Amino acid sequence: MTVSSPLPSYHRWGSLVGKRILVRVDFNTPVAEVNGRQEVTDDFRIRACLPLFEELHERGATVVACTHFGRPHGVVDLRYSVEPVRRRLGELCPGVALLENLRFSPGEEANDPQFGASLIKGFDYYINEAFGSSHRAHASIMIPPTLVPSAAGPNLQREVSTLTSLLESPQRPFVAIVGGAKVAEKLGIVKVLAQKADTVIVGGGMAYTFASSQGRSIGSSLFNSSFVSECAAILSRGNVIIPSDARGLSDGSSFGAEGGDDPVVEFGANIPDGFEGLDIGPQSVRTFIEAIAPAATILWNGPMGVFEDRRFGAGTEAVARAVASSHAVSVVGGGDSVAALKAYGLEGSFSFVSTGGGASLEFVELGDLPGLKALRESQFN
Ligand code: AMP
Repeated sequence: MTVSSPLPSYHRWGSLVGKRILVRVDFNTPVAEVNGRQEVTDDFRIRACLPLFEELHERGATVVACTHFGRPHGVVDLRYSVEPVRRRLGELCPGVALLENLRFSPGEEANDPQFGASLIKGFDYYINEAFGSSHRAHASIMIPPTLVPSAAGPNLQREVSTLTSLLESPQRPFVAIVGGAKVAEKLGIVKVLAQKADTVIVGGGMAYTFASSQGRSIGSSLFNSSFVSECAAILSRGNVIIPSDARGLSDGSSFGAEGGDDPVVEFGANIPDGFEGLDIGPQSVRTFIEAIAPAATILWNGPMGVFEDRRFGAGTEAVARAVASSHAVSVVGGGDSVAALKAYGLEGSFSFVSTGGGASLEFVELGDLPGLKALRESQFN
Protein backbone atom coordinates (compact mmCIF):
# COMPACT_ATOMS: atom_id res chain seq x y z
CA MET A 1 0.00 0.00 0.00
CA THR A 2 1.71 3.18 -1.12
CA VAL A 3 0.99 6.80 -0.40
CA SER A 4 -0.36 7.17 -3.91
CA SER A 5 -2.92 4.34 -3.46
CA PRO A 6 -6.40 5.83 -3.58
CA LEU A 7 -8.30 6.27 -0.35
CA PRO A 8 -11.23 3.84 0.02
CA SER A 9 -14.55 5.33 -1.13
CA TYR A 10 -17.98 4.86 0.47
CA HIS A 11 -19.51 4.67 -3.02
CA ARG A 12 -18.46 1.02 -3.28
CA TRP A 13 -20.68 0.02 -0.35
CA GLY A 14 -23.94 -1.50 -1.62
CA SER A 15 -27.30 -0.79 -0.10
CA LEU A 16 -27.10 1.16 3.13
CA VAL A 17 -30.71 0.51 4.11
CA GLY A 18 -30.80 -0.20 7.83
CA LYS A 19 -27.02 0.34 8.19
CA ARG A 20 -25.48 2.48 10.92
CA ILE A 21 -22.57 4.73 9.96
CA LEU A 22 -20.23 6.61 12.29
CA VAL A 23 -18.79 9.74 10.65
CA ARG A 24 -15.74 11.38 12.27
CA VAL A 25 -16.07 15.10 11.56
CA ASP A 26 -14.16 18.18 12.67
CA PHE A 27 -16.85 20.40 14.18
CA ASN A 28 -14.36 22.28 16.34
CA THR A 29 -16.18 25.48 15.39
CA PRO A 30 -15.98 28.90 17.04
CA VAL A 31 -18.71 29.59 19.63
CA ALA A 32 -19.61 32.72 21.56
CA GLU A 33 -22.27 33.72 24.08
CA VAL A 34 -25.38 35.06 22.36
CA ASN A 35 -28.39 36.03 24.53
CA GLY A 36 -26.96 34.17 27.49
CA ARG A 37 -26.10 30.90 25.79
CA GLN A 38 -23.24 29.52 23.73
CA GLU A 39 -23.95 29.59 20.00
CA VAL A 40 -21.91 28.55 16.95
CA THR A 41 -20.65 31.74 15.27
CA ASP A 42 -19.28 30.13 12.11
CA ASP A 43 -21.04 27.01 10.85
CA PHE A 44 -18.85 26.54 7.73
CA ARG A 45 -17.52 23.17 8.90
CA ILE A 46 -21.01 21.86 9.70
CA ARG A 47 -22.43 23.01 6.34
CA ALA A 48 -19.50 21.40 4.54
CA CYS A 49 -20.68 17.97 5.79
CA LEU A 50 -24.35 18.34 4.87
CA PRO A 51 -24.09 16.84 1.34
CA LEU A 52 -22.51 13.69 2.78
CA PHE A 53 -25.12 13.37 5.53
CA GLU A 54 -27.94 13.90 3.02
CA GLU A 55 -26.52 11.33 0.61
CA LEU A 56 -26.17 8.71 3.35
CA HIS A 57 -29.74 9.39 4.52
CA GLU A 58 -31.03 9.06 0.97
CA ARG A 59 -29.27 5.70 0.72
CA GLY A 60 -31.14 4.56 3.82
CA ALA A 61 -28.44 4.78 6.50
CA THR A 62 -28.64 6.01 10.07
CA VAL A 63 -25.87 8.58 10.60
CA VAL A 64 -24.10 9.44 13.84
CA ALA A 65 -21.31 12.04 13.86
CA CYS A 66 -18.47 12.45 16.36
CA THR A 67 -15.97 15.27 16.88
CA HIS A 68 -13.50 16.76 19.29
CA PHE A 69 -14.31 20.24 20.57
CA GLY A 70 -11.66 22.36 22.29
CA ARG A 71 -9.18 20.90 24.72
CA PRO A 72 -10.84 19.41 27.81
CA HIS A 73 -7.79 17.11 28.24
CA GLY A 74 -9.59 13.83 28.88
CA VAL A 75 -12.07 14.98 31.52
CA VAL A 76 -15.75 15.89 31.31
CA ASP A 77 -15.73 19.68 31.35
CA LEU A 78 -19.08 21.12 30.31
CA ARG A 79 -17.48 24.28 28.97
CA TYR A 80 -16.41 22.03 26.10
CA SER A 81 -19.73 20.25 25.61
CA VAL A 82 -20.73 19.91 21.94
CA GLU A 83 -24.26 21.09 22.86
CA PRO A 84 -24.13 24.37 20.84
CA VAL A 85 -22.81 22.45 17.82
CA ARG A 86 -25.46 19.78 18.26
CA ARG A 87 -28.18 22.47 18.25
CA ARG A 88 -26.85 24.06 15.05
CA LEU A 89 -26.49 20.67 13.38
CA GLY A 90 -30.09 19.85 14.39
CA GLU A 91 -31.27 23.04 12.66
CA LEU A 92 -29.29 22.37 9.48
CA CYS A 93 -29.73 18.61 9.23
CA PRO A 94 -32.25 17.01 11.56
CA GLY A 95 -31.73 13.28 11.93
CA VAL A 96 -27.95 13.25 12.43
CA ALA A 97 -27.00 12.54 16.03
CA LEU A 98 -23.77 14.00 17.43
CA LEU A 99 -21.83 12.17 20.16
CA GLU A 100 -20.47 14.21 23.09
CA ASN A 101 -16.92 15.61 22.83
CA LEU A 102 -14.50 12.76 22.06
CA ARG A 103 -11.84 14.41 24.22
CA PHE A 104 -13.95 14.01 27.36
CA SER A 105 -12.37 10.55 27.40
CA PRO A 106 -8.60 10.23 27.98
CA GLY A 107 -8.71 7.28 25.55
CA GLU A 108 -9.21 9.57 22.55
CA GLU A 109 -5.87 11.38 22.58
CA ALA A 110 -4.09 8.30 23.98
CA ASN A 111 -5.26 6.32 20.92
CA ASP A 112 -6.63 3.68 23.29
CA PRO A 113 -7.91 0.67 21.28
CA GLN A 114 -10.59 -0.05 23.86
CA PHE A 115 -11.98 3.46 23.63
CA GLY A 116 -11.88 3.26 19.82
CA ALA A 117 -13.70 -0.10 19.92
CA SER A 118 -16.38 1.28 22.25
CA LEU A 119 -16.97 4.17 19.85
CA ILE A 120 -17.53 2.01 16.78
CA LYS A 121 -19.53 -0.70 18.58
CA GLY A 122 -22.96 -1.13 16.97
CA PHE A 123 -21.92 0.55 13.69
CA ASP A 124 -21.58 -1.16 10.32
CA TYR A 125 -19.36 1.44 8.66
CA TYR A 126 -16.99 4.31 9.45
CA ILE A 127 -16.25 7.44 7.40
CA ASN A 128 -13.40 9.83 8.15
CA GLU A 129 -14.54 13.30 7.08
CA ALA A 130 -12.09 15.13 9.35
CA PHE A 131 -9.06 16.04 7.25
CA GLY A 132 -8.10 18.68 9.84
CA SER A 133 -7.76 15.96 12.53
CA SER A 134 -6.11 13.28 10.42
CA HIS A 135 -2.56 14.28 11.34
CA ARG A 136 -3.31 13.13 14.89
CA ALA A 137 -3.11 9.43 15.74
CA HIS A 138 -6.14 9.60 18.02
CA ALA A 139 -8.52 6.71 18.73
CA SER A 140 -11.50 7.99 16.71
CA ILE A 141 -9.23 8.36 13.67
CA MET A 142 -7.08 5.24 13.98
CA ILE A 143 -9.15 2.44 15.55
CA PRO A 144 -12.46 2.24 13.58
CA PRO A 145 -10.72 1.37 10.26
CA THR A 146 -9.25 -1.70 11.99
CA LEU A 147 -12.71 -2.90 13.01
CA VAL A 148 -15.27 -2.09 10.29
CA PRO A 149 -15.26 -1.21 6.55
CA SER A 150 -14.13 2.39 6.37
CA ALA A 151 -13.91 5.17 3.82
CA ALA A 152 -12.78 8.73 3.19
CA GLY A 153 -15.48 11.40 3.21
CA PRO A 154 -15.79 13.69 0.18
CA ASN A 155 -14.24 16.75 1.81
CA LEU A 156 -11.27 14.78 3.09
CA GLN A 157 -10.88 13.22 -0.37
CA ARG A 158 -10.95 16.68 -2.00
CA GLU A 159 -8.36 18.10 0.40
CA VAL A 160 -6.01 15.20 -0.27
CA SER A 161 -6.38 15.25 -4.05
CA THR A 162 -6.00 19.03 -4.24
CA LEU A 163 -2.80 19.03 -2.18
CA THR A 164 -1.46 15.95 -3.97
CA SER A 165 -1.87 17.39 -7.46
CA LEU A 166 -0.44 20.70 -6.30
CA LEU A 167 2.68 19.00 -4.99
CA GLU A 168 3.10 16.36 -7.69
CA SER A 169 2.19 18.19 -10.88
CA PRO A 170 1.84 21.93 -10.27
CA GLN A 171 1.42 24.33 -13.17
CA ARG A 172 4.52 26.49 -13.17
CA PRO A 173 5.61 28.96 -12.00
CA PHE A 174 4.64 27.58 -8.59
CA VAL A 175 4.91 30.21 -5.83
CA ALA A 176 4.57 29.18 -2.17
CA ILE A 177 3.96 31.75 0.56
CA VAL A 178 4.64 30.82 4.18
CA GLY A 179 4.08 33.12 7.14
CA GLY A 180 3.05 33.03 10.77
CA ALA A 181 4.88 33.14 14.04
CA LYS A 182 6.54 29.78 14.59
CA VAL A 183 9.72 29.12 12.67
CA ALA A 184 10.16 25.83 14.55
CA GLU A 185 6.84 24.55 13.24
CA LYS A 186 7.18 25.75 9.67
CA LEU A 187 10.82 25.33 8.74
CA GLY A 188 10.23 21.76 7.55
CA ILE A 189 7.57 22.92 5.14
CA VAL A 190 9.73 25.78 3.84
CA LYS A 191 12.47 23.24 3.16
CA VAL A 192 10.14 20.93 1.21
CA LEU A 193 8.58 23.83 -0.69
CA ALA A 194 11.98 25.27 -1.60
CA GLN A 195 12.52 22.02 -3.50
CA LYS A 196 9.07 21.78 -5.11
CA ALA A 197 8.17 25.40 -5.82
CA ASP A 198 9.89 27.86 -8.12
CA THR A 199 9.77 30.63 -5.53
CA VAL A 200 9.07 30.56 -1.79
CA ILE A 201 8.08 33.79 -0.05
CA VAL A 202 8.64 33.79 3.71
CA GLY A 203 6.94 36.47 5.84
CA GLY A 204 5.53 36.91 9.35
CA GLY A 205 7.41 36.51 12.60
CA MET A 206 9.28 33.47 11.28
CA ALA A 207 11.09 35.62 8.70
CA TYR A 208 13.26 37.32 11.36
CA THR A 209 15.22 34.16 12.08
CA PHE A 210 15.97 34.05 8.34
CA ALA A 211 16.92 37.76 8.37
CA SER A 212 19.19 37.19 11.36
CA SER A 213 20.93 34.34 9.51
CA GLN A 214 22.00 36.96 6.93
CA GLY A 215 23.62 39.01 9.68
CA ARG A 216 20.84 41.57 9.79
CA SER A 217 19.80 43.01 13.15
CA ILE A 218 16.23 42.22 14.17
CA GLY A 219 15.84 44.04 17.51
CA SER A 220 13.49 42.09 19.75
CA SER A 221 11.46 40.58 16.90
CA LEU A 222 10.51 36.91 17.11
CA PHE A 223 13.64 34.77 16.88
CA ASN A 224 14.68 31.18 17.42
CA SER A 225 18.44 30.71 17.70
CA SER A 226 18.22 26.93 17.12
CA PHE A 227 17.31 27.42 13.47
CA VAL A 228 19.71 30.12 12.27
CA SER A 229 22.06 27.84 10.37
CA GLU A 230 19.19 25.92 8.79
CA CYS A 231 17.64 29.21 7.66
CA ALA A 232 20.98 30.25 6.12
CA ALA A 233 21.18 26.92 4.25
CA ILE A 234 17.65 27.34 2.90
CA LEU A 235 18.38 30.90 1.74
CA SER A 236 21.49 29.70 -0.07
CA ARG A 237 19.25 27.80 -2.52
CA GLY A 238 18.45 31.17 -4.07
CA ASN A 239 14.70 30.74 -4.59
CA VAL A 240 13.52 31.84 -1.13
CA ILE A 241 12.58 35.51 -0.70
CA ILE A 242 12.35 37.15 2.72
CA PRO A 243 11.19 40.68 3.66
CA SER A 244 13.65 43.51 3.03
CA ASP A 245 11.94 45.97 5.39
CA ALA A 246 9.46 45.98 8.28
CA ARG A 247 6.93 47.93 10.27
CA GLY A 248 6.68 47.59 14.02
CA LEU A 249 6.75 49.16 17.45
CA SER A 250 9.15 50.03 20.23
CA ASP A 251 9.48 47.45 23.01
CA GLY A 252 6.80 47.57 25.66
CA SER A 253 4.13 48.88 23.28
CA SER A 254 0.87 46.99 23.21
CA PHE A 255 -0.40 45.25 20.10
CA GLY A 256 -2.73 42.43 19.12
CA ALA A 257 -6.45 42.04 18.50
CA GLU A 258 -7.22 44.82 20.97
CA GLY A 259 -4.87 47.16 19.10
CA GLY A 260 -3.08 50.02 20.80
CA ASP A 261 -2.16 53.59 20.05
CA ASP A 262 1.63 53.57 20.13
CA PRO A 263 3.05 55.03 16.91
CA VAL A 264 4.08 52.58 14.16
CA VAL A 265 7.75 52.72 13.16
CA GLU A 266 9.13 51.81 9.72
CA PHE A 267 12.45 49.98 9.43
CA GLY A 268 14.76 49.21 6.53
CA ALA A 269 16.73 45.97 6.37
CA ASN A 270 17.77 46.29 10.03
CA ILE A 271 15.63 46.69 13.13
CA PRO A 272 17.48 48.46 15.95
CA ASP A 273 17.56 47.24 19.55
CA GLY A 274 14.49 48.28 21.47
CA PHE A 275 12.12 47.71 18.53
CA GLU A 276 10.13 44.78 17.21
CA GLY A 277 9.01 43.97 13.64
CA LEU A 278 5.31 43.15 13.38
CA ASP A 279 4.55 43.40 9.66
CA ILE A 280 6.42 43.44 6.37
CA GLY A 281 7.25 46.92 5.05
CA PRO A 282 6.19 48.63 1.78
CA GLN A 283 9.25 47.56 -0.21
CA SER A 284 8.67 43.91 0.78
CA VAL A 285 5.01 44.26 -0.23
CA ARG A 286 6.10 45.40 -3.70
CA THR A 287 8.66 42.59 -4.05
CA PHE A 288 6.17 39.95 -2.88
CA ILE A 289 3.43 41.20 -5.23
CA GLU A 290 5.88 41.09 -8.15
CA ALA A 291 6.87 37.52 -7.26
CA ILE A 292 3.22 36.45 -7.01
CA ALA A 293 2.08 38.04 -10.29
CA PRO A 294 3.45 35.45 -12.78
CA ALA A 295 2.40 32.42 -10.70
CA ALA A 296 0.26 29.67 -12.21
CA THR A 297 0.04 27.83 -8.87
CA ILE A 298 0.05 29.39 -5.39
CA LEU A 299 0.07 27.71 -1.99
CA TRP A 300 -0.33 30.08 0.95
CA ASN A 301 -0.14 29.32 4.68
CA GLY A 302 0.30 31.90 7.43
CA PRO A 303 -0.06 35.69 7.75
CA MET A 304 2.68 38.21 6.90
CA GLY A 305 2.33 40.04 10.22
CA VAL A 306 0.18 40.51 13.30
CA PHE A 307 -2.87 41.02 11.06
CA GLU A 308 -5.30 40.82 14.01
CA ASP A 309 -4.05 44.34 14.85
CA ARG A 310 -5.25 46.71 12.09
CA ARG A 311 -1.93 48.57 12.19
CA PHE A 312 -0.08 45.42 11.10
CA GLY A 313 -2.51 43.92 8.61
CA ALA A 314 -1.28 45.73 5.49
CA GLY A 315 1.24 43.09 4.42
CA THR A 316 -1.19 40.20 4.83
CA GLU A 317 -3.96 42.11 3.05
CA ALA A 318 -1.71 43.07 0.12
CA VAL A 319 -0.55 39.46 -0.32
CA ALA A 320 -4.15 38.18 -0.02
CA ARG A 321 -5.31 40.64 -2.69
CA ALA A 322 -2.39 39.77 -4.99
CA VAL A 323 -3.20 36.06 -4.71
CA ALA A 324 -6.95 36.64 -5.13
CA SER A 325 -6.50 38.72 -8.27
CA SER A 326 -3.96 36.39 -9.92
CA HIS A 327 -5.03 33.80 -12.48
CA ALA A 328 -3.21 31.07 -10.59
CA VAL A 329 -4.71 27.98 -9.01
CA SER A 330 -4.55 29.15 -5.41
CA VAL A 331 -4.73 26.99 -2.31
CA VAL A 332 -4.81 28.56 1.12
CA GLY A 333 -4.57 26.69 4.42
CA GLY A 334 -4.27 27.46 8.09
CA GLY A 335 -6.83 28.96 10.43
CA ASP A 336 -5.11 32.35 10.54
CA SER A 337 -4.79 32.77 6.80
CA VAL A 338 -8.42 31.76 6.34
CA ALA A 339 -9.50 34.22 9.07
CA ALA A 340 -7.55 36.93 7.23
CA LEU A 341 -9.26 36.12 3.93
CA LYS A 342 -12.64 36.33 5.58
CA ALA A 343 -11.77 39.67 7.17
CA TYR A 344 -10.93 41.05 3.70
CA GLY A 345 -13.99 39.43 2.07
CA LEU A 346 -11.76 37.38 -0.25
CA GLU A 347 -12.51 33.77 0.65
CA GLY A 348 -14.48 33.26 -2.59
CA SER A 349 -11.52 34.40 -4.70
CA PHE A 350 -9.30 31.41 -3.99
CA SER A 351 -9.48 28.10 -5.86
CA PHE A 352 -9.39 26.06 -2.67
CA VAL A 353 -9.53 26.93 1.01
CA SER A 354 -8.23 24.05 3.12
CA THR A 355 -9.97 23.44 6.44
CA GLY A 356 -7.02 21.79 8.14
CA GLY A 357 -4.12 24.07 9.03
CA GLY A 358 -1.82 21.68 10.89
CA ALA A 359 -2.95 18.74 8.77
CA SER A 360 -2.28 20.47 5.46
CA LEU A 361 1.18 21.56 6.64
CA GLU A 362 2.03 18.05 7.73
CA PHE A 363 0.68 16.60 4.50
CA VAL A 364 2.83 18.94 2.42
CA GLU A 365 5.87 18.23 4.56
CA LEU A 366 5.58 14.44 4.98
CA GLY A 367 3.34 13.46 2.06
CA ASP A 368 0.93 11.45 4.23
CA LEU A 369 -1.04 11.55 7.49
CA PRO A 370 -1.70 8.83 10.11
CA GLY A 371 -5.47 8.99 9.56
CA LEU A 372 -5.10 8.52 5.79
CA LYS A 373 -2.74 5.61 6.33
CA ALA A 374 -5.27 3.99 8.69
CA LEU A 375 -7.94 4.17 5.96
CA ARG A 376 -5.62 2.81 3.27
CA GLU A 377 -4.34 -0.03 5.43
CA SER A 378 -7.73 -1.20 6.67
CA GLN A 379 -8.10 -4.98 6.26
CA PHE A 380 -11.66 -4.42 4.97
CA ASN A 381 -10.51 -2.71 1.73
P1 AMP B 1 1.02 30.61 12.99
O1 AMP B 1 0.07 29.96 13.96
O2 AMP B 1 2.42 30.16 13.10
O3 AMP B 1 0.48 30.58 11.56
O4 AMP B 1 1.06 32.13 13.40
C1 AMP B 1 -0.03 32.99 13.27
C2 AMP B 1 0.20 34.14 14.19
O5 AMP B 1 1.44 34.72 13.87
C3 AMP B 1 -0.82 35.24 14.08
O6 AMP B 1 -1.56 35.26 15.26
C4 AMP B 1 0.03 36.50 13.94
O7 AMP B 1 -0.39 37.54 14.79
C5 AMP B 1 1.41 36.04 14.34
N1 AMP B 1 2.48 36.83 13.72
C6 AMP B 1 2.68 37.05 12.43
N2 AMP B 1 3.73 37.85 12.24
C7 AMP B 1 4.23 38.17 13.44
C8 AMP B 1 5.30 38.98 13.91
N3 AMP B 1 6.08 39.65 13.06
N4 AMP B 1 5.50 39.04 15.22
C9 AMP B 1 4.70 38.39 16.08
N5 AMP B 1 3.68 37.61 15.72
C10 AMP B 1 3.42 37.50 14.41
